[in-house]
Amino acid sequence: MRTIKIIITSVIIAVYMGISVYAEDIVRIGIKDNVQEAGFGKGAFEVGYDGGNKEFVKCGEISGDDIEVKILNGSFTEIGSGYDSYDKAAQICNENEYPAIVNGKWCVYSMGGDVKTTDCAVGVYDGGVLIMIANSDDDLQMKRKGNNFTEVDGVQYRGVIETYRNGEVMNIINFIDVEEYLYGVLPSEMTSSWDKEALKAQAVAARTYRMKNSGIHDQSGYDLCCTTHCQAYKGVELEDEKSTQAVDDTKGEMIYYQGELINAMYFSSSGGYTANSEDVLGSEVPYLRGVEDKYEKESKEWERKFTLSQLTQMTSGIGNVMGLLAKTDEKTGRVNEITLVGMNGDKTIKNEQIRTFFSSFGGMLESRNFTVNIGGNGGSDKYDGDEAVFVIGDGSKKSIDIGKLYLENGEKIQNGEEIKIVGSSGEIYISAGSGKEKKNEKTADESNFSPDVIILKGRGAGHGIGMSQYGAKGMAESGYDYKEILKYYYTGVEVR
Ligand SMILES: [Zn+2]
Repeated sequence: MRTIKIIITSVIIAVYMGISVYAEDIVRIGIKDNVQEAGFGKGAFEVGYDGGNKEFVKCGEISGDDIEVKILNGSFTEIGSGYDSYDKAAQICNENEYPAIVNGKWCVYSMGGDVKTTDCAVGVYDGGVLIMIANSDDDLQMKRKGNNFTEVDGVQYRGVIETYRNGEVMNIINFIDVEEYLYGVLPSEMTSSWDKEALKAQAVAARTYRMKNSGIHDQSGYDLCCTTHCQAYKGVELEDEKSTQAVDDTKGEMIYYQGELINAMYFSSSGGYTANSEDVLGSEVPYLRGVEDKYEKESKEWERKFTLSQLTQMTSGIGNVMGLLAKTDEKTGRVNEITLVGMNGDKTIKNEQIRTFFSSFGGMLESRNFTVNIGGNGGSDKYDGDEAVFVIGDGSKKSIDIGKLYLENGEKIQNGEEIKIVGSSGEIYISAGSGKEKKNEKTADESNFSPDVIILKGRGAGHGIGMSQYGAKGMAESGYDYKEILKYYYTGVEVR
């Protein structure tokens, strides 16, 4: 008899553990940072807290026409405790008294007194009227009653919403099962009408990425943010049957290198060749090797214009910027280094910092796969290859004293030599040394030369490491399945 009992017990434990492992795979996604309030709209809500292991523990229900959560500052007095629901606490409240959840338990607070709410409290309001206080180490969680989505500032989310107070602001966090999170990520990251195998590759990459990077925003109270910094996620807004199917078809599958989960980075479009990890991250990762993106048929083309004045504003200590020197990796077509040539010196920027360098005028560069062009109307002077220099006048006569300069014919200007730019009549020429030899001459009419502008013309979008999404699309359309796609972009991996 004893033996039988033991067997039954262990079967029950095994089943229970099987369920709980799945139920606990909750990811915390930051959906709003540093806000003072968040609107939940009309309806009935369950309120509670995280009981540990990201498990929602319900404390009670509230309802209203215009529920919102705001930072609460003030002092209160606890005048009663031990109530087992919001309704019970609310029943005994007089004027200026409010039901409160304090560390997961219901009590009643009246306004004024010794209990300060400065650091950890939020108030739940209905149409501006305070109806409840949450003052707790376990931050307040809310979800719409029933199986409905919970709305925050007009966007619908699955799972539970937590308000995480951090001083004078709070972060709004979505606690959600990882597979349901992927329902929202997939259509934000890849167009749902793309081939099924590309969608499945994206689902596996996104699932792996989440597992490997979970917790990188721990200091803000969540695992991953909802932007492309981590993975784009907009709640249920963009959910689509086809992308949801791709998540379901690959449920639980992830990518491994020598038995370890990989950092499954991905990006939109390479423009021809993906990047080696060290060119972007600074460290060599064996499965993040550059590969020819031969299946990428459509790559994004882009163009950005910067005036010399803008380039000058982006730098400091080198005086007025006169031109830009770019070094390109022949194999990948990516620019690895740019040098801004100023009146009083140079400034060199390398690798991914090149993209963020331009951020203050129109956001970071779409990619590093670009050529530098000068002038207006498409830029008639196009320079490709290892090194190119552009010395551009602004209509006045200038002498600059710089090294590392090449003339258009490839001849190098020696350090200390004088370069003259004469542009007042629309005629530009650059001369080396004594200025006797005229190397380059253009008139404004002939070249549409716009002497103040540098144009970057590029292909591709994103950092370039790991899977190219447009490349995955092309491979899927050529008949490859999702595992073949993933193994192409992540060197030496297995998918299981
Ligand atoms: Zn992030």
